[in-house]
Parts: sequence; structure tokens; C-alpha cells
Amino acid sequence: MRADLIILGAGPAGLTAGLYTGRARTDAILIEKGMPGGQMAATELVDNYPGQSEPILGVELAQRMEAQVRKFGIEIQYADIVSVSRTASGFDLSNDSGVTYSCRSLLIATGASPVKLGIPGELEFAGKGVSYCAICDGPFFRDVEVAVIGGGDSAVEEAVYLSRLASKVHLIHRRDQLRAVKEIQERALAVPNLVVHWNSAPEKIIGANDVEAIHLRSTVENSMTELPVSGVFFYVGIKPNDEAFRGLVEADSRGFVITDEKMATSVPGIFAAGDIRAKELRQISTAVGDGAAAAYSAQRYLENL
Ligand code: FAD
Ligand code: NAP
Repeated sequence: MRADLIILGAGPAGLTAGLYTGRARTDAILIEKGMPGGQMAATELVDNYPGQSEPILGVELAQRMEAQVRKFGIEIQYADIVSVSRTASGFDLSNDSGVTYSCRSLLIATGASPVKLGIPGELEFAGKGVSYCAICDGPFFRDVEVAVIGGGDSAVEEAVYLSRLASKVHLIHRRDQLRAVKEIQERALAVPNLVVHWNSAPEKIIGANDVEAIHLRSTVENSMTELPVSGVFFYVGIKPNDEAFRGLVEADSRGFVITDEKMATSVPGIFAAGDIRAKELRQISTAVGDGAAAAYSAQRYLENL
């Protein structure tokens, strides 16, 4: 399959790029390996998207963005792209079955995924009490106690969501101050069945077949405690989804793609948008802005070829 422009990833950045290229009648396809919407679709409620004065389900916002892209004629292809290479006329992208997609310009919008902490028990109990997605797995933990690891926006927000399902939520944070924005913190600290374990680091998850408890180390006294829980949700940060094009474009030490303000990468013809970029603030609104700017730059690039 061939197109002038391929947009890789259909999260808010890729969907916005699709909208702009569709309206400009650029010959483009959008490639997605999972569900359009990306991380946004795995978020319960979004209440900081401009113009949306009432909170909206992440999945609903994703569906609306997808419908708007389709309205302007952009086709979404479902494929997991595993490699990207340069060719004489542009770029080739291959999926895991060897199918190739060719383009003259590439817009990378592959976003990010949760970091794994790597403590004993984390891998063994994945799907047996360990999760990285409260919206996906939360309903399995009705009326039992769960732990949420992390102190950022994701951990605190998802702890609040889980408090409506679980009998008690233990938020485990390694410091004495949360990283999450104040508004999210205030919501969490007002929830009666949500307790914060300050200065606590997870050491080990134990159980027979499923998760039964988590061992916590005090980061102040170095003492250990065992906390009985049936589920452990990790929200300790994100890493770039860069496997398919690692080494092709310039990136920072963590693998996030470096761009200029026009979203151009170090390789002419490759643009990047959204969470995959090296940047400070990763939000739906910033991904959307990046997607619009990157689509515009890709069109200019194609016109000048
Ligand atoms: P993503 O949303 O990560 O989408 C990338 C897409 O690319 C995915 O669909 C993925 O499947 C696809 N993809 C990746 N690699 C490939 C490949 N090789 N081949 C094909 N497809 C591929 N932000 C807010 O503004 N408000 C919130 O309330 C909010 N809540 C959040 C809650 C949680 C739990 C999390 C984790 C994040 C939240 N965020 C929120 C952040 C926001 O979701 C992200 O900043 C935003 O989704 C980034 O958009 P993106 O399009 O760059 O990437
Ligand atoms: P994050 O902001 O990087 O926070 C990660 C949290 O995990 C931090 O509190 C960190 O502790 C903790 N942590 C990291 N490594 C750890 C370790 N080894 N052991 C124990 N704890 C560890 O990641 P995030 O919360 O997933 O957010 C990712 C991005 O999405 C952010 O840009 C965020 O703003 C955005 N987001 C936005 C919203 C929203 O707008 N509503 C919601 C969710 C996410 P320290 O604080 O001590 O470093």
C-alpha cells in the first residue's frame, strides 16, 4: 500500500493529524495497531479538554475524534508496524507479517506506554492481580482492597476511579508530596476509602495463585510492612512507543523523539506529534496541537518536493 503521507498511531495526535490532512485533501492513511484513541480511550473521564465543560468519557472523546477523521475521508488501516526504513522515494513501514506500506512523508504519533517497575512478583502476577489499566481491569476488583503505585496524575486520578469499585484503595507513593496537579490531589484526598501511604516504596508482590499482598519499604526508616491487597495497579510513568523506528530519528536519552517547533525530526520528511515527542507537558490538548502542526508541516514538505 502506498500514500503520500502515513500517520502512524491513532491517538489524539494522530487523529488530529488525520483531520487536518483529510480537510487538506492530502493523500494520507492512518495506521493503528489497537483501538483508535490511544491512552485517551483508556482514561475514564476527561475533564480538562477545552470546550468540554462537563467531564467526558475518554472513550467517547476518542469515538468523536475518529468519526470526524472518517468524515473527511481518511482511511484507518489496522497494523502493528514493527520497522521503518528509508527508501529512495521516502519511507517503507512493515508490519509483523511482512506487509509493506510506502510513503513520501511519515508522521509519527505512536505515543507512550506504562513503565514497568520490575519488582519481584510484577511479571508473575500480571493478569492475576497486577494491572496497568484501571479502566480495563478495575471492575474485577469490586469490594476488595487494591494498591495503586505512583504519585503522578495517572496514579492519583486512577486511584479515585478505583475507589468507586474497590472497598479500599491504598495509594503508595515514595515521597511525602504528590506530583499530581493540585486539583486531582484535592479530589483524591477527599475520598473516604482512599488512603495514602507516604514515603513507601513497593518491594515485592506475593500470593499463591493471585495477588494476596504487597511488601512496602519505608523510604525514611527503611523498615518493611506487608499490606494485604487483591490488586496492584502500577502508574510509575510512561515510556515512548519507539521500537519500530529507534535509531532512525534523533531522540533524547529516554527515547522520546526530538523535534523543532514545526514538529520536524532530524530526518527530512519525518514529523512527530504527541507523547512520543521529547516535551514537558503530555496532555490530550498538547497532543492535538502537535498533531495539527505536524500535519501542516508534512503538507508543506510534500508540496515542496
Ligand atoms: P497515545 O494516546 O499514546 O496514542 C498513540 C497510538 O499509537 C495508540 O493508539 C497506539 O496503539 C498507536 N501505536 C503505537 N505504536 C504503534 C505501532 N508500532 N503501530 C501502529 N500503531 C501504534 N490527558 C489529558 O489531557 N487529560 C486527562 O484526563 C488524561 N488522563 C490520562 C489518564 C491516564 C491513565 C493516562 C495514562 C494518560 C492520561 N492523559 C490525560 C494523557 C493523554 O492520554 C496523552 O497525553 C495522550 O493520549 C497522548 O496522545 P498521543 O496521540 O500522542 O499518544
Ligand atoms: P509521571 O508524571 O511521570 O509520574 C510517575 C509517578 O511514579 C511519580 O509520582 C513518580 O514518583 C513515581 N515513580 C516513578 N518511578 C518510581 C519508582 N521506581 N518507584 C516508585 N514510584 C515511582 O507519570 P504519569 O502519572 O503516568 O503521567 C504521564 C503523563 O500523562 C504526564 O505528563 C501527565 O501529566 C499526563 N497525564 C495527565 C492527566 C490529566 O491531565 N488529567 C492524567 C494522567 C496523566 P516521583 O513523584 O517521586 O518522581
